[in-house]
Amino acid sequence: MSRISAFLAMSVNFPYHLGMTPETDPQLDALWMPFTANRQFKQAPRLLARARGMEYFTPEGRRVLDGAAGLWCVNAGHGRAEITAAVTRQLETMDYAPPFQMGHGPGFELAAEVAALCPPGLNRVFFTNSGSEAVDTALKIALAYHRIKGDASRTRLIGRERAYHGVGFGGISVGGIVANRKVWAGSMLPGVDHLRHTHDLSRNAFSRGQPVHGAELADDLERLVALHDASTIAAVIVEPVAGSTGVLLPPKGYLERLRAICDRHGILLIFDEVITGFGRTGAPFAAQEFGVTPDLITMAKGLTNGCVPMGAVAVKQSIHDAFMQGPPGAIELFHGYTYSAHPLACAAGLATLDIYRREGLLTRAKELSGVWEDAVHSLRGRPHVIDARNYGLIASIELEPIPGKPGARAFEVFLECFERGLLIRTTGDIIALSPPLIIEPAHIDEIFGTLASVL
Ligand code: PLP
Repeated sequence: MSRISAFLAMSVNFPYHLGMTPETDPQLDALWMPFTANRQFKQAPRLLARARGMEYFTPEGRRVLDGAAGLWCVNAGHGRAEITAAVTRQLETMDYAPPFQMGHGPGFELAAEVAALCPPGLNRVFFTNSGSEAVDTALKIALAYHRIKGDASRTRLIGRERAYHGVGFGGISVGGIVANRKVWAGSMLPGVDHLRHTHDLSRNAFSRGQPVHGAELADDLERLVALHDASTIAAVIVEPVAGSTGVLLPPKGYLERLRAICDRHGILLIFDEVITGFGRTGAPFAAQEFGVTPDLITMAKGLTNGCVPMGAVAVKQSIHDAFMQGPPGAIELFHGYTYSAHPLACAAGLATLDIYRREGLLTRAKELSGVWEDAVHSLRGRPHVIDARNYGLIASIELEPIPGKPGARAFEVFLECFERGLLIRTTGDIIALSPPLIIEPAHIDEIFGTLASVL
């Protein structure tokens, strides 16, 4: 047993749940954890050791129901033997292949399968290793596209307040999360502007499905066109459902209006579907669910069921084809990653899509959405609940913040849920739920029963 495994095995016997906090153990020092309160965590670690189906298990064997599909990614549930077998087979056959000027079967196969799931016309696929890289890739393609078309003045990118598009410089620039932007304020991409966000509790609290009010917020794009002129704007990027800032749903008619304004002004529309892709809303992509086709779609997470890191950008053929010119032998898009279309990720992706297809998981959220919606709204009236909202197999419970301590109330709920065997996500004072799509009604009862008792 390694020293760290020995420490972790020992640490599970420590009564952290009683509020006792040991000195931070030096065995934990080396790992600088992402988006984590490192010092707090290391005084009272929350550890996961195994996962199967809808469940995680802690090192001491305590069961924790997964209400978050890991981090919005394990859509087919944990420990899928088909994916393990496919990745193992691929590792034994060919561990790695260079993606520049070389190709391999699984890469082409997965691209074709992803294209087949996308809305009509988005049939060219570029692979990355994460959602952040997919976003930066999409933004670069949009800028390069206009240049190739002779529209080089279109350099401006438009994002939206309260958007999350990952952590690359492109993503944080078009993103709209203050904590994510303030530290690097002087290093953002130039020429970026933002639409207003669509979250409006005064008019839309306790909406079931898409909120009724707010389509007119799309007209903010007309305001930015009037300010900057369309000839300077390359693309608009939005999450159809904003996830990381607490499940902000698109008001009815909003995405349609955004599409129409983009069309009117020759602006590309990018949907960031890193969390909404692969069945989360009840269709393969939110684009299909909401009936609005963007020009590019970014995706990651559910693409490989979270097993091997991978992201992708699906692009309209007309955009791709605009690049396919110039002297023979010229590289059309000077962009790519050492691990683009990594063979293991492709094997995991192919096995994952096969499971989604066989088990009907890409539309299962629609079948369960009625039961899910009723369960979500059963929390209305519980202490501190100021909103509950839902779509497909996504939900959010917004809590009244403790005065002067933003985020503290939801984090307390997160800790207590973990103690009682339920993994949720929180962002600020908002609880977000996004379980694996294999969820059964009994799990739904358990999730909301636990939440109700904790609240
Ligand atoms: N875009 C959206 C909409 C996301 O929700 C996320 C991550 O949650 C990202 C991009 C970044 O993805 P990654 O963490 O894989 O870089």
